[in-house]
Amino acid sequence: MLPYGRQSIVESDIEAVAEVLRGDWLTTGPAVGRFEAELTRWTGGVPCVSVTSGTAALHVAYVAAEVRAGDEVITSPLTFVATAAAAALLGARVVFADVQPDTGNLDPDAVAAVVTPRTRVVTAVDYAGHPADYDELRAVADPAGAVLMADSAHSIGAAYKDRPVGALADLTAFSFFPTKTVTTAEGGAVAAADPERFRRAARFRNHGLVREPADQREPDVGGWHQEVHEFGLNYRLPDVLCALGVSQLRRLEGFRERRRELVARYDALLRDVPGLTLPAQRAYVRPSWHLYPVRVRDGRRREVYDRMRAAGIGVQVNYVPAYWHPVFEDLGYRRGLCPRAEAYYAEELSLPLFPDLTDAQQDRVAETLAAILR
Ligand SMILES: *Cc1c(COP(=O)(O)O)cnc(C)c1O
Repeated sequence: MLPYGRQSIVESDIEAVAEVLRGDWLTTGPAVGRFEAELTRWTGGVPCVSVTSGTAALHVAYVAAEVRAGDEVITSPLTFVATAAAAALLGARVVFADVQPDTGNLDPDAVAAVVTPRTRVVTAVDYAGHPADYDELRAVADPAGAVLMADSAHSIGAAYKDRPVGALADLTAFSFFPTKTVTTAEGGAVAAADPERFRRAARFRNHGLVREPADQREPDVGGWHQEVHEFGLNYRLPDVLCALGVSQLRRLEGFRERRRELVARYDALLRDVPGLTLPAQRAYVRPSWHLYPVRVRDGRRREVYDRMRAAGIGVQVNYVPAYWHPVFEDLGYRRGLCPRAEAYYAEELSLPLFPDLTDAQQDRVAETLAAILR
């Protein structure tokens, strides 16, 4: 089965990992700082904390935003459930706002309609690798005193109005799962411009441990002394995986370019196929495409999904609206809440997109799809 996404691993990636395995530090050694420094070059200088997954990154970012029980977190339903789940686990009430019908990104007007004095965070999702409309989102979040967050699991390397992802929101979460543009097997990171939020993020991923004597309540106990002031967890990304991350980030420009090329080829190959809506792109955005999300009209998405899979093409659907999951249904969330996200989901089909996809494989995907729809 041709997958919808997969990692690209070359000899230099393997060598980078092997080098760490031969050394002294498997975790919490020098590769962690190297990876975070490399990441910071992609976020326009905004410092980054590496963690064990994109889900951990979201959890850490909500903690850094000081989300507490009873707070409201506004987000898009057209996302992986973790965007909402990480906030719900902190006791927040998740408020879903609808998406723009063409990009699938959080609609700033829909956010403005549900923002309240209890809104603690507004979390955008850069769906498919196309950044959300951050200027408009900020214009809603800032006056409400809410933190603007980006779930940029899809969009590392993308830019919005010439500003890089990582520098667009107050807090940005990345994922380095194998299907994502850059991988560390499992892994993630949080970018935080504000030093206090950065410190909260860095502490939370390491049990909340306070090591700097200047910040301790009892700084004179001895060299072994460390304190916990607020609970945290172990979300530390090991050196072995950070080394892979460094090596992958050096290839990010190439990944982004090949993905852009494949997207342009899909656009050309599928332009005249009936019953298909191709992904939209804003003129002021430079996407870093993670997905190629087409929409299959006329109620034929299920049929096309089944027939593509039967032909050995591992298409995917991104995403079931988050509040359709029974966990939200049981909390009283009802279908019909965000009609544009539901309409998008009903038609959405992600075609294979990854750097090592060959032109010939892509031609077969396009021909198979066209043959079904013609
Ligand atoms: C992949 C993904 C996540 C979760 O990342 P993991 O690394 O798999 O935990 C969160 N949000 C979105 C939008 C994602 O695509």
